[in-house]
Amino acid sequence: MIIKEIHLGMDDIDSPRGGCTTHFASLVVEMLSNWGALWIDYPNLIRLNPNIPYRTRGNGAVALRFKIEASKARDILPALEKMIAEYIEMDYPNTNPGVVLVEGNIPVEVQEFSERAIWRTISIAIAKRVLESNSIQHVCIGNGRGLIGSLAAVGNRLTQDHTYEFIAYRSPESSNQPRRVYEDSVIEMNRTMGERLFSSIDPRTNRMLIAPHGPDPVLYGIRGEGPEDVISAASFVQSDSSIERRMVFRSNQGTGAHLKHVVYVADLRPYMAALVHGVIDRDPIAIEGGHVLFGIGDCSGRIDCAAYEPTGEFRETVARLRKGDQALVHAAVRPASRTHGLTLNAEGIVIIKLAKRSKLLNPICPSCSKRLKSAGRGQGFKCVNCGFKNPEGAKIEVLLDTELEETVYLPPPRAQRHLTRPLERLNRINSEVPKCLIDEWHIP
Ligand SMILES: [Zn+2]
Repeated sequence: MIIKEIHLGMDDIDSPRGGCTTHFASLVVEMLSNWGALWIDYPNLIRLNPNIPYRTRGNGAVALRFKIEASKARDILPALEKMIAEYIEMDYPNTNPGVVLVEGNIPVEVQEFSERAIWRTISIAIAKRVLESNSIQHVCIGNGRGLIGSLAAVGNRLTQDHTYEFIAYRSPESSNQPRRVYEDSVIEMNRTMGERLFSSIDPRTNRMLIAPHGPDPVLYGIRGEGPEDVISAASFVQSDSSIERRMVFRSNQGTGAHLKHVVYVADLRPYMAALVHGVIDRDPIAIEGGHVLFGIGDCSGRIDCAAYEPTGEFRETVARLRKGDQALVHAAVRPASRTHGLTLNAEGIVIIKLAKRSKLLNPICPSCSKRLKSAGRGQGFKCVNCGFKNPEGAKIEVLLDTELEETVYLPPPRAQRHLTRPLERLNRINSEVPKCLIDEWHIP
C-alpha cells in the first residue's frame, strides 16, 4: 500500500445560503476522515492581506494536511469539484472557488508566494503561473480568484507564531436566523480562561466578539493559545441554537503576521500592509465623519495618515500626537482617490520617541507670585498687582504633560483585524508545531 502526504488548499467557497470556506473545509474533513485520512496537522486557517478590497468578508483560506492511500488521493479533486458545485449552487456570482493539491514537500516558490500574499496584492495570473511551473493539481470555478488564497494557505506551514480557533457551526439552513449565544456565559468563559484566550470580549463596551453578525453557518469562534484551551472554553458557552459541527483550526490570527515589513514612504503601494517608521510632520486634526488625520514623513517622503471613526478610542490616542514625535505606524495603504492622495489607514501605532511638549508663559512676579502681564511691545513685563517692572524679562518655557507613553497603541478589539496581534498577545509566541492532534478536534 502506497501512502501519500497531501496538502490541500481551498479559498473563496461561499454559498448563497451564507456558507463559507471554513465550513466547507469541515465537510471535507468529515469526508476524508471517512476515507481513512491520517491528519498531520489541525486544519490551518490562514488569513491573508486584509487590505485587499474584494476580500469583503475577511474570509480565511484553509489548508488541510494529511496522509492517505495513493488510490484514494487520486479521487480527492474530482470529489471536491462535485462538492463545490453543490455547495455554491453554480450560478452564485460572488464566489470564485479555488482548490489546490500539493503532494509531498511544498515547493519553495509556493512558500514565497505565501509570504507575499500576506502583505501584498497578487494577481490571478501569477497564481496560475506558480501552479503551472510546479505542476500543482488544482480546480477553479469562476474567475479563479480562489486559487490565490488556496495556494497561499498551502504554502504557510505556520512554523512561526500561531494561535487556535474553535468554530461551532449551525446548519446552513438556520444561517439566516439570529444567533442566540448568551453573553453572560461568554463573560464567565473569559474570566475563567484568562490569558489563554484573546479577543473574546471588547473591554470598553463589554460586547462579546465571538459571534459574527453575517448570515453564515458560524455560530461562534473562540480564539486562544492552545487547542485544549479553545475546546475547554467552548464548554462554557451557552446558546439556544443547535450546533451541527465543530472544528479546531490552527491559525495565523492574532500574530501580526501581515505587519513584518518596514517600508519607506516612497515605496508604499495601494493595499500594502506595511510598517512606516518616521516622524509626525503634521499635528492631528479631526475631520468630518469623526476621523482623525495626521501626517508622517521619513527620508524618502511624507504621507497623510488617518485613524477612522470605527477605531473608536484609538482616535483619542492619535489626536494626542504632535509634530516631531517619532513613531512606527501599522498601516493599511489606501489608494489615492479624487479627494485624497495615497493615505495610510492606521491600525496601530508604536510611539518610539515623544517630542518635547511645551508652551511659553509670562514670568511670575518675584514679590507677589502673580503672573506678569506684557508691558507693551519690546518693553518686557509688569505686575498689575504691585507695579513691579521687568523690562528685560523673557517668556519661560513650561513643559506639558504628554498624556502618551512610548509604547504600542491599538484600536479596541472590536475594531481589530483578524491578523492584528492584540495587546494580550504582545509578548507571546507559540512556535512549537503540534506533533500529534488532541481528540475531539472535530465533530463529526
Ligand atoms: Zn507683583
